[in-house]
Amino acid sequence: MIKKLKSTQNLSDAELLELLESEVYDEELRKAADELRRSIYGTEVYIRGLVELSNYCKNNCYYCGIRRGNTNVNRYRLSKAEILECCKSGHELGFRTFVLQGGEDSYYSSELLCEIISEIRAGYPDCAITLSLGEWPKQDYQSFFEAGANRYLLRHETANTEHYGKLHPANMSLENRKQCLFNLKEIGYQVGSGFMVGSPYQSTANLIEDLRFLQELKPAMIGIGPYLTHKDTPFNEFKSGSLKITLKLISILRLMFPYALIPATTALGTAAPNGREQGLLAGANVVMPNLSPVKVRKDYTLYDNKICTGEEAAECRYCLERRVASAGYKIVVARGDVIKQ
Ligand code: SAH
Repeated sequence: MIKKLKSTQNLSDAELLELLESEVYDEELRKAADELRRSIYGTEVYIRGLVELSNYCKNNCYYCGIRRGNTNVNRYRLSKAEILECCKSGHELGFRTFVLQGGEDSYYSSELLCEIISEIRAGYPDCAITLSLGEWPKQDYQSFFEAGANRYLLRHETANTEHYGKLHPANMSLENRKQCLFNLKEIGYQVGSGFMVGSPYQSTANLIEDLRFLQELKPAMIGIGPYLTHKDTPFNEFKSGSLKITLKLISILRLMFPYALIPATTALGTAAPNGREQGLLAGANVVMPNLSPVKVRKDYTLYDNKICTGEEAAECRYCLERRVASAGYKIVVARGDVIKQ
């Protein structure tokens, strides 16, 4: 099955089910994924500087700690000057991609975001600008692109309509989420999507549907991480997703999408002390350290016990450098664009 997956980038549903539900193939799968990653990207790991610009959100996703309904959140938003300051220190630390992520906060109008993007673009012409700001009308995605944004991260979260309905209130829809992703692609963004592993009510069949949707979308970047419980959400009684299955899915994704940029996510690092290192060994080739000002870090809490909420950007950068090296890989100063899709 692993040979077939590697040579055809595909497996049947029954084969995927077996791979996901049995543990006997795990180490062989990991090795095949790592081998393929090394044959394409060598030992290079690309870094993305994450700026968490706001934890206000109009949405009420049942799994997310910064959902609108959580009144225990100390809400903040960064000013344009603060965002630019994050980029400045990030650039000095060797970041050549900035990721602006946040809740869906209407304080940042399309005009204000275009201003922020244009200023980053003018100040750092050698850098990629990635947005992760949720769902917008196509026209606004177009304006952000024209202002200088290059990439957009929007996880589909789950590709099963019924499951999507169990994770989100009725005013949100999988159909709209998918439409946003296709709109972004059409505009010319490098698009990233992905899903949570082990989210409440998720079945193995749902995970296979996630893989099938990604095969249809053909994203440049694929971000997955374990679902992690947050104490102040309606899902606080559900247990967190499995690290092992997340790692296995990273390996499957590498083999299905040989050229994809796949991060070893913060959620992975939260699930286990060496979770990100294990992610790299399973086929991931990106890490996304935090560039947000330390004073707001602990307030951008999507799930409990999130790591790296106390360190300065420089500390995070060098800590990750050591972690990446300990796993046998090397952080590079580069934009790290997708080389082929
Ligand atoms: N508002 C933006 C950014 C969301 S935060 C958007 O809609 O895209 C980025 C990702 O964090 C989400 O897409 C989701 O997959 C993940 N996330 C949110 N809550 C989580 C939780 N409790 N456990 C693990 N991942 C979570």
